[in-house]
Amino acid sequence: MSKKIFFIDVEKCVACFNCFVACKDEFVDHKWEHYSEAQPDEGPAWIEVQEVERGQFPKVKVNYIPKPCMQCDPAPCEKAADNNAVTRRDDGILLIDPEKAKDQENIQKACPYNRIYWNQELDIPQKCTFCAHLLDQGYKEPRCVEVCPTRALRYGDIEEFKDEMDKAEQLRPELKRDSMVYYKGVPKAFVAGTVFDKETGECIESAKVKLETSAGILVCSTNNYGDFEFEGLEEDFRGSICIEADAYQPVVFNDLHVGKSVYMGEINLTKMG
Ligand code: SF4
Ligand code: SF4
Repeated sequence: MSKKIFFIDVEKCVACFNCFVACKDEFVDHKWEHYSEAQPDEGPAWIEVQEVERGQFPKVKVNYIPKPCMQCDPAPCEKAADNNAVTRRDDGILLIDPEKAKDQENIQKACPYNRIYWNQELDIPQKCTFCAHLLDQGYKEPRCVEVCPTRALRYGDIEEFKDEMDKAEQLRPELKRDSMVYYKGVPKAFVAGTVFDKETGECIESAKVKLETSAGILVCSTNNYGDFEFEGLEEDFRGSICIEADAYQPVVFNDLHVGKSVYMGEINLTKMG
């Protein structure tokens, strides 16, 4: 059986929450025998749309990361469960048996992605099932994928995504486990700034900006607003930035330490001589 995957393009997610609403429509007050008990109408987000904000005013970027259950392999929830309460199907989807999982908070606690919710009324852990009850009836996609207007969410054979796989990654790679959910466009760190003439206060266009880190050297130029930006950097890096422009004294920032993303603010260059 070919591996089926969720392929999520973060840059296409516009936070419309259609996926979240479709999940509610499918599971609130609906018990799917042999798959899941009904979802409570308040509280859980079996597919969560997480807002990620980067940078500082006036350079702030916001992205949204949709997060279903990752269907990990190996799966910590499966390992933590007693009595085979969590089982993997042949297609890789993990299901929680509501009867066997009753009172097993250890299952919820084991998930490193916080993708399991506790149903207080029934005292059971619950999570996204990839709409396995629909797939088994011949549906091609889970409901959330079907309603995503931008195709930020897609579902299909892994071969269908082979042309995009070189840009894909899985969340929290440090956990060193495979999953059925692949992401493209996960926001990384950026460094940005705006370059001005110290005397006139005018922005400087076409200044050369060089970022040097242990990973290599990147170069860009300021635009007609004096802005520069290096995007897609690994988080938590050290390096230096050198800014040069014709007829100006260069400016160097050594020992730059960027945890997440940083807007360096206004950088003033002084004319030579
Ligand atoms: S994301 Fe959490 S709930 Fe889903 S398979 Fe992994 S450990 Fe289990
Ligand atoms: S339906 Fe698609 S675009 Fe809308 S929030 Fe969900 S993933 Fe994002």
